Amino acid sequence: MTAPSPRPVAPDPTGRLPVAERADVRRAMVRLVRADVRAFTAVLALNACAAGAGLAGPWLVGRIVDEVRAGGGVGAVDRLALWILLCSLAQLLLARWARYVGHRFGERTLARVREEFVDRALALPASVVERAGTGDLTARGTGDVALVGTTLRDAGPDLLINGVQALFLLGAVFALHPLLGACGLLGLIPIAWGVRWYLRRARDGYLAEGAATSEVAEILAATAAGARTVEALRLQERRVRAARDALETSRRTRLYTLFLRSVFFPVVEVSYLLPVAAVLLTGGLLHGRGTLSLGAVVAAALYLQRLSGPLDEILMRIEQLQNSGASFARVEGLARAPRAVRDGSPTPADDRIDVAGVRYAYDRGGEVLHGVDLTVRPGERLAVVGPSGAGKTTLSRLLAGVDAPTEGSVTVGGVPVVDLGPEQLRRQVVLVTQEHHVFLGTVRDNLLVAEPDATDEELWAALAAVGAGEWVRELPDGLDTPLGDGGRHTDGSQAQQLALARVVLADPHTLILDEATALLDPATARHTERALAAVLAGRTVIAIAHRLHTAHDADRVAVMENGRLTELGTHEQLVAADGAYAALWGTWHGEGPHPG
Ligand code: ADP
Repeated sequence: MTAPSPRPVAPDPTGRLPVAERADVRRAMVRLVRADVRAFTAVLALNACAAGAGLAGPWLVGRIVDEVRAGGGVGAVDRLALWILLCSLAQLLLARWARYVGHRFGERTLARVREEFVDRALALPASVVERAGTGDLTARGTGDVALVGTTLRDAGPDLLINGVQALFLLGAVFALHPLLGACGLLGLIPIAWGVRWYLRRARDGYLAEGAATSEVAEILAATAAGARTVEALRLQERRVRAARDALETSRRTRLYTLFLRSVFFPVVEVSYLLPVAAVLLTGGLLHGRGTLSLGAVVAAALYLQRLSGPLDEILMRIEQLQNSGASFARVEGLARAPRAVRDGSPTPADDRIDVAGVRYAYDRGGEVLHGVDLTVRPGERLAVVGPSGAGKTTLSRLLAGVDAPTEGSVTVGGVPVVDLGPEQLRRQVVLVTQEHHVFLGTVRDNLLVAEPDATDEELWAALAAVGAGEWVRELPDGLDTPLGDGGRHTDGSQAQQLALARVVLADPHTLILDEATALLDPATARHTERALAAVLAGRTVIAIAHRLHTAHDADRVAVMENGRLTELGTHEQLVAADGAYAALWGTWHGEGPHPG
């Protein structure tokens, strides 16, 4: 399911993933309810029925009182008692049913939240994830989603059930006599006040308590783990003092939350009795004047006494709801992150790559590219050389669309690379690095990542192209053999071959190859060198060259120094020009083959 997403916000300068605003959270909740509106309505209706059945009990008790006062016999009382039993049974069954439907609603909604989260996480541009760190994303996807899940499964339905019950109970008292209803409502004011007072302080109080507990655990663990160092450097005194301070802080925060509870709970407990007392007093007066039957007073008192059950549940759940509200805001926050997929990204006119007036500054740090212009001709091999820190890797990230230039443009066929959705981008430009990840799944799954519509023949052709056809054919289930944890183990060169087969399947016209990070594993170099050559054939290749023979074999060489392109031409031209490249070449040539 694709959810309408709020307007993306500008990236946080610290790189953190955004958190949803209150309004976004509200909208998201409405959307989730709407997505399963039938189940939600059924939950409400069943709850209302159960609560309605629950109202019969006290009313019937009131009737019994009136019957007895009017001189009714045992038979009349028995009949009413039987009705009480039947109504209680009906309430029990309806409440069970409501709970069942409520939990199903919760589970389905949780599944929706999870699916949306995965969709949105996958739509995040690599650079955003890189900046935010995978930890935050993982925490949101696990802890936060789980907390939202518990709320949806337990707290949400419980709140609904108890909310409906409380409303019905109050309504019933109003129906008996408006004045009694008003008494009931007045009695609730101290509870509302107590809740406000408590909730305002509880969050920070419990957060502080949690932080203090973590601090104690951290200090103890660090001291135990570094016991030898502590002994050797005679730090015992200091560690003991640190532990004592942390324990003191922890004690203080615990005392504070204890104080909060010791004010809140008695206030609430007493408040439950107030409406009952008020109703008995007022009801007594009304009865004395003869405007109200004794049975009605008894019924009203019973209703209000019963109110404590649902109110207790609601109070207990409200705090949980607050916590999971914060989690939900973090989960929903992903919708505000910039998306990699732009709908209807334009199609490049041709395979030409143009870098024009490109400047780039990382979030932290000054500008590292100071105006780079470069046109890469389709089919050519361009080697980019230069000293370490010159900006070669940065340029390759911009060429591959991982980052957007701060100024200027990087276009392929006239379209900025950062505007291309991943589907489009991987047919144009692919960055080849050493990160050859094997996904949990079969060999086929691992390949289809790059080209979901590929046929088995195409998969085998790609495997053959990178020299992996043989070992895959020997696997027990061929393309259907599971890989990764629990499946078949793949060694470094096999993993790299799979990665290269994915490149073959994606079939981009341009490859960006960072020699520093690609294919540096000497053990696998022999296998992969051949595979790589097969992958490079017929494509434009921009190689960040760390070995000068790569530059020598290239069609053109670009020299980068201090964030600028200082020389551009064929190997021969640059050697003849006697500039930086010629000097580099001279040194390298003089020393003989360079390791890298
Ligand atoms: P090269 O690949 O030529 O060695 P880089 O593109 O890696 O050069 O680096 C160019 C400059 O950008 C260097 O000064 C480096 O310190 C800086 N730089 C690289 N990556 C980052 C980053 N993630 N954040 C901040 N500065 C960076």
